[in-house]
Amino acid sequence: MIRIHNAREHNLKGVDVDIPRNRFTVITGVSGSGKSTLAFDILFAEGQRRYLESLNAYARQFVQPSARPDVDAIFGIPPTVAIEQRTSRGGRKSTVGTLTEIQHFLRLLYVKLGTQHCPDCAVPIEPQSEEAIAARILRDWRGRHIGLLAPLVVARKGYYTDLAKWAAGKGFTHLRVDGAFLPTGQWPRLDRFREHNIELPVADLVVSADNEAALRAALARALEYGKGTLQVVGPLDQLAGVAAGSGRDEAR
Ligand SMILES: [Zn+2]
Repeated sequence: MIRIHNAREHNLKGVDVDIPRNRFTVITGVSGSGKSTLAFDILFAEGQRRYLESLNAYARQFVQPSARPDVDAIFGIPPTVAIEQRTSRGGRKSTVGTLTEIQHFLRLLYVKLGTQHCPDCAVPIEPQSEEAIAARILRDWRGRHIGLLAPLVVARKGYYTDLAKWAAGKGFTHLRVDGAFLPTGQWPRLDRFREHNIELPVADLVVSADNEAALRAALARALEYGKGTLQVVGPLDQLAGVAAGSGRDEAR
């Protein structure tokens, strides 16, 4: 609770006011009643003055501390930020976060300390070792026919003709573009104005204990092509035969 006692700044006549912390508080009243005096000249000015006083002498030489407002006492006031009612600075996309530049710090804080979740299925996102991925596939997909895809392009525009040529040269007959398998030999003209997701179908195989060595080899290759990321798709029927490489024979 912030407590302001006997405020006489400007036209205020001995105002006592308690303002709850961590709540949204609106100050309202007729014109000239002293709303701005209370908000800016007392609450903001005193919060800022006390914060600046807590800084070292070196930092303080750059800022002019405002005068103490005319009140008997103010308790429990945190450092304050004021955003004035003004349209010349900041556009309609400005927020408290961007105007105060707190946004950058908040973003860093959430990225570094927060747990990211998949927006679709709310599963927490976490890095896994190759060993952990292999164990998980063996557990979750046992007996199923799966495909391992290496993401090559994530949400980028382009024709990707050279990428198709490169894949064809490596013996890959197809690439998955935005969810559909396209032949690398007769590469169609992609929509250049659309962002594409392109994956390399590295292998497809049936997950079983007998097949573990093949799975691990395919996994290592997928992670190499995908620079540490891969996608597992399955169960597969329609995908059979589009993957090149060691997994293919086992899958048939
Ligand atoms: Zn998800």
